[in-house]
Amino acid sequence: MYYNFLETMNKNPFNICTFNSNSNCNECKNQDKLDCKLDKNQQKISMLAVSSSLIIGVFGLIITGLIIGNWQILILYIVFIFLFFFVIEIRLTCTHCPYYAEKSRHLDCPGNNIFPKIWKFRPEPMNRYEKFGSTFGFILISAIPLLSQLYSIWFFLSNNPNASWVLIIALFGVLIATILSFLMFYSLFLLTFCQRCINFSCQFNKVPKDLVNEYLKRNPVIKNAWEKRKITNGKR
Ligand code: SF4
Ligand code: SF4
Repeated sequence: MYYNFLETMNKNPFNICTFNSNSNCNECKNQDKLDCKLDKNQQKISMLAVSSSLIIGVFGLIITGLIIGNWQILILYIVFIFLFFFVIEIRLTCTHCPYYAEKSRHLDCPGNNIFPKIWKFRPEPMNRYEKFGSTFGFILISAIPLLSQLYSIWFFLSNNPNASWVLIIALFGVLIATILSFLMFYSLFLLTFCQRCINFSCQFNKVPKDLVNEYLKRNPVIKNAWEKRKITNGKR
């Protein structure tokens, strides 16, 4: 039993109830209202939604490259995706998430199980610069392929006034698929996951305050860090 306790503390140094098998969830009012215990099916859905949007975005940029004869946007976009998801967004948002507190080399959370943990856990809430940076990054992720495709369609039609309708419909088809794919990605997160996510200080989080307070009550390390920032009870 002593060994089990030590093993649990090793993996869960901040004693977060999310990772604690003895967290007494049956007596907690957050049970089934928050994604405070990992659901592997939700993780798979998240990764599928994000990766399909990014793949269709890259595909649109390949078509853009073929049309305008320039591959710089595609290369920059791929570099940005890797930097944003594997380094920047993790630092700005995920390091403040309770799921980041687990002692492991990579994240294992409702969002994914691949992001490496290269930063330290920050139990305090996100500040305004982190929120701005994260929002701006997510805007760029969808705006770059959409605006580039719009430009390439304009460029193609300007230089090929007699282009076949099949080609024009195909170009607009990829554009519409990209729009729908990003709409699905953002709606899935904003309308479902963000309503239950335990990264409460994230700018997209929609969890009611009473559930936030219950989670903080059960996780003193996070509660103390929030109180130090004077952001408690409704002052999110
Ligand atoms: S908040 Fe913690 S104790 Fe409550 S249900 Fe979630 S994991 Fe269990
Ligand atoms: S903010 Fe989302 S992606 Fe990041 S660790 Fe938390 S649940 Fe995972």
